[in-house]
Amino acid sequence: MSEAEHSRRTRSPRRGEDWGEGTPAERSEFPHPTRAPRVDLSSPGGGGAPRHDWTREQVRALFDLPFPELMFRAQEIHRRNFDPGAVQISTLLSIKTGGCPEDCAYCPQSARYDAGVRAEKLMSLDAVLAEARTARAAGASRFCMGAAWREPKERDLDNVCAMVEGVKALGLETCATLGMLTAAQAQRLKAAGLDFYNHNIDTSPEFYGDIITTRTYQDRLDTLQRVREAGIHVCCGGIVGMGETREDRVGMIATLASLPAHPESVPINMLVRVGGTPLAGEPKLDPLEFVRTIAVARITMPRSMVRLSAGREDMSEETQALCFLAGANSIFYGPKLLTTSNPGRDRDRDLMERLGMRALEPGD
Ligand code: SF4
Repeated sequence: MSEAEHSRRTRSPRRGEDWGEGTPAERSEFPHPTRAPRVDLSSPGGGGAPRHDWTREQVRALFDLPFPELMFRAQEIHRRNFDPGAVQISTLLSIKTGGCPEDCAYCPQSARYDAGVRAEKLMSLDAVLAEARTARAAGASRFCMGAAWREPKERDLDNVCAMVEGVKALGLETCATLGMLTAAQAQRLKAAGLDFYNHNIDTSPEFYGDIITTRTYQDRLDTLQRVREAGIHVCCGGIVGMGETREDRVGMIATLASLPAHPESVPINMLVRVGGTPLAGEPKLDPLEFVRTIAVARITMPRSMVRLSAGREDMSEETQALCFLAGANSIFYGPKLLTTSNPGRDRDRDLMERLGMRALEPGD
């Protein structure tokens, strides 16, 4: 490239200088969205209350915003509702690992895939409480217990209720993820002191059948409704990077944001590609698309805790920092997430310190 050509590519034209036909935007080699599309973010009655009437078109328009504009809008909403320097910290323990009869294509705990996860029995109450004490000492405010079941059997539920009571007595918020629930089971968990129940919709209604065939999208929505009716807070989100399109990410967020009540916690997971599962060979999703998904979740569900969940182990610290800027305000903490690894506690503490962020206390 000649010096003159190099100079023209790396600087703007000076006054009176013309580099050719068309506007500067038309001459550029880069995409040139000249103006951010207008997206109405106001609640129907005004006043900034959460909306439940998000259309796909509106959610798509948010995803399509220029990145700086999207981040700015997400920041505005985040700051209106939360302390941007505070992060809620949850610890997740697998209380019953492996041997699950379901066929979720991302999951190494499914008995259908050979992902090297051994089926184990339900942990004892004492062992769970010992883990909960360790988590509390490490700064967790919420303790989540996950079991690889299609749904809990009655005998198992007795044991889980005892765990919920014990963890609650330690001063921690309690969360469980046990598969599908009947209304009676949800009420029993509520009576034991369960604060949150996690049940993800995973993806869009259209893409769902490519990922799971052993239960329907509607089954998931029904469990969410039973949990809500029992008075338990809902933790519900999904996974990105499973080979879905952006339109599927739009569909997932639009579904969550138009639930009758927004989930109090919205975990957004980046697929962890575990060998032996059908999704092991999926190409990696652009981290900026992950950040966009977080930002759109923040804007559409302004008062929910948006959790940066699985996939952090593979994520740069810069991407995680962008996620916090986009409105993520919760993380899972501790070296393991059910069966996949997570950044160690020291690494997380170090990142929080460097970002000048603090952990939320229970009831903060
Ligand atoms: S995600 Fe849950 S329900 Fe699906 S296979 Fe894994 S443990 Fe079973």
